[in-house]
Amino acid sequence: MNAPTLVESQTPQLNLTGDFPILSRPVKGRRLVYLDNGATTQKPAAVIQAECQYYEQSNANIHRGVHFLSQHATDLYEQGRESVRRLLNAARDEEIVFTRGTTESINLVAYSWGWANLKEGNEILVTGMEHHSNIVPWQLLCERTGARLRVVPVTDSGELDMDEYRALLNSRTRLVGIVHVSNALGTINPVQEMTRMAHEAGALVLVDGAQAVAHTVVDVQAIDCDFYVFSAHKLYGPTGMGALYARYDVLKDMPPWQGGGDMIHTVSFERSTYADVPQRFEAGTPNIAGVVGLDAAIRYVQGVGLEAIASYEDHLLQLATEQLLELPGIRLIGTAAAKAGILSFVVDGIHPHDLGTILDTDGVAIRAGHHCAMPLMTRFGIPGTARASLALYNTEEDVLALVAALRKAQKLFGTGREA
Ligand code: PMP
Repeated sequence: MNAPTLVESQTPQLNLTGDFPILSRPVKGRRLVYLDNGATTQKPAAVIQAECQYYEQSNANIHRGVHFLSQHATDLYEQGRESVRRLLNAARDEEIVFTRGTTESINLVAYSWGWANLKEGNEILVTGMEHHSNIVPWQLLCERTGARLRVVPVTDSGELDMDEYRALLNSRTRLVGIVHVSNALGTINPVQEMTRMAHEAGALVLVDGAQAVAHTVVDVQAIDCDFYVFSAHKLYGPTGMGALYARYDVLKDMPPWQGGGDMIHTVSFERSTYADVPQRFEAGTPNIAGVVGLDAAIRYVQGVGLEAIASYEDHLLQLATEQLLELPGIRLIGTAAAKAGILSFVVDGIHPHDLGTILDTDGVAIRAGHHCAMPLMTRFGIPGTARASLALYNTEEDVLALVAALRKAQKLFGTGREA
């Protein structure tokens, strides 16, 4: 037998499908090929068991109780905060606020920091490839404060036009919102360089890490951003759970945005005073089980290793890109030099929704539509794309199943070339 080539011997391998119970259930009588990870990831048994065990062994309300279970639940909750701090390499636990997810984290910043700091004449700069959740909260803020929303254009390959970015930054810019990894294109944006430029102009930076945390090492101190947001459910954790990282110096001066229990120091009918951060931003009983699940998810990905995950997914991305480009009449939307495991594409003569429905009959789950990035679709002159998005449990077999199902769809529509 020939010795393996260098490339073969270096092909990164992960074999984690067995950790995810749902992946062993058939769909429509076929093996499930789950390629909708950009929308949400499946959960490993470790996460499911951690939440289950929390309710069986540890459930109580946190922070105010003197009894054993309350203190135990509080410890688990605060241990989850420390886990997020480590994941993002934040400097202190107080910089981590638990939220319902990316969307709520951005709204928190818009309503708290934004209301306190924005006025007419100010500008907020976002990019042309943002998810709606990093557009609409700023639009609402602009409508109410008279500030102006400006947009960094996207090039044909799906990268940010850095010359335009430089030109748009000015002394009126108060905040720059950048998606770390685009959910619709897969582009990995140069957030560190963009943050440095924004800071030179005197603006703060919010990085939307929804699609980044599960696929790459994130270091908020190296990026030097002021806010970083993500959702647990895209990181193999539970839905309805997420976090906001905010630099301590910025967070400590931000006013509350939701009032209620747990976020106060004292309350009287004349006046209330507020807790220190991060409790000031965690009004009411939080998603304690969600924090436990998120903690388990972080431990799971760190156990596998984010570098190993990134290089394995990159290998699958290269394979999928090569294979898709061999199909006739297919156009990849998003061909940036730096990309994470997302393949957005359009196929001549087949609407993305039809494609999604046909692939589903083969057990292949992809997403079709505008991916909550309507301005980006308008930029490319298309109503939407079909999107296959990768995770650590996907395999080469999954990629080949996707390609085979696409061939079948083209044959059905009479748009493919006969081999
Ligand atoms: N930003 C990006 C880049 C996303 O991919 C998503 C989810 N598709 C969001 C924000 C919103 O996340 P969530 O719905 O979990 O709040």
